Amino acid sequence: MLREGLLRLGGDLLGDLLSADRGQRGPRIPCGHGHQAGFADYRDKTFDTVLGPVTVNRAWYHCAACRHGLAPRDAELGTAGTSLSPGLSAMTDTAAAAGPFAKASALLEELGSVRLPPKRVERAAEASGAARSAAVRERAAAITARQVIPLPPQPLPDMLYGAVDGTGVTMTARETEGREGKGEDGRARTREVKLGVFFTQDDIDEDGYPVRDRGSCSYVSTFEPVSVFTDLVKAEGIRRGAGHVRQLTVLGDGAAWIWGLAASAFPGATCIVDLYHAREHLASLARSLEFMTLDHYGDWLAARRGDLDRGDIDAIEAAVREYPLEGAKKDEVEKELGYFLNNRTRMRYKWFRSRRLFVGSGVVEAGCKAVIGQRLKLSGMRWTVNGADSIATLRCQQASRPEDRIWQPRHNQTRTA
Ligand SMILES: [Zn+2]
Repeated sequence: MLREGLLRLGGDLLGDLLSADRGQRGPRIPCGHGHQAGFADYRDKTFDTVLGPVTVNRAWYHCAACRHGLAPRDAELGTAGTSLSPGLSAMTDTAAAAGPFAKASALLEELGSVRLPPKRVERAAEASGAARSAAVRERAAAITARQVIPLPPQPLPDMLYGAVDGTGVTMTARETEGREGKGEDGRARTREVKLGVFFTQDDIDEDGYPVRDRGSCSYVSTFEPVSVFTDLVKAEGIRRGAGHVRQLTVLGDGAAWIWGLAASAFPGATCIVDLYHAREHLASLARSLEFMTLDHYGDWLAARRGDLDRGDIDAIEAAVREYPLEGAKKDEVEKELGYFLNNRTRMRYKWFRSRRLFVGSGVVEAGCKAVIGQRLKLSGMRWTVNGADSIATLRCQQASRPEDRIWQPRHNQTRTA
């Protein structure tokens, strides 16, 4: 009872406080479209805050040319074009990023005594995520164009890693119309979201294996094509000190687009194919040769695993070429072998290990599950690209360490336009 009463009291107090300046800025103000808007009267606006609904009585201006009204006070308070205060909007973002909109709405009421129907939570979070996504892209463009030069992180880490991957998110039918996919009817059900994560490593454990610095991950994601994603990853890498660290490493599962991205964004980086993906490909190579190796299948695979751990792709190639093959079987085996030949320089595992480098991309795969999957891939969920992109952006920023959160409001009472 006390809490409810205090919230109501706080709301009334806040309304009075905010109405103390009613935003009277003279008889005329610029309308924002090149004209002058004239003072009309004072009007009430009610918006929701963390203290409940608050009503502010503020000056209203009208532009005769635009036939449009505006209140300077709204822009100052960050409530122009919205009915949520910036504080409540931040709270709503956190709840909506954490779980489905209906649950978020219930949670806001239970924990914060804030009553917002799920649809409003959804609209507010998606608008906020879209604004942040645009801000991240804008900043990435400024950083990659060298208009903004981030200071190197302090203290400077010794090793910085970037790991990238993609994962499918189920879309509404409209979002996948005309796209080919793996469904039974040949139609796509999902769209790929790409995720990039940066983390640092300064330590090794007692067995000599690298240890990721706790809480050092920062994430970027997008549903846009690789070219856009490349800019986001490049900018985030620069921001995390890619141009200053001693050792920069890019980890991926072996997909060609990842190495294209790495070559364009970080030409000097060491590129490494995730060892566990390489082992899976090796097992599949061995299976395609099983009809030749027969009883020796197990020994053959074990020997090749030894080759792979040494990064000796020549030995794997030689062992495969011992078997004369023809026709479809030859094509199948060549395709499997191609994965290793194409990634030869990115599989020098023995050397990588001697430099104490990570050779697994588990961090980004875990990120795909935790940051994307646990919110966007729950059973029965179908998204629009814009909605999914907004929520993915909110989740990336919440998963990033606080000092690395990519988007910060310039002032906590001002919403980004
Ligand atoms: Zn006007």
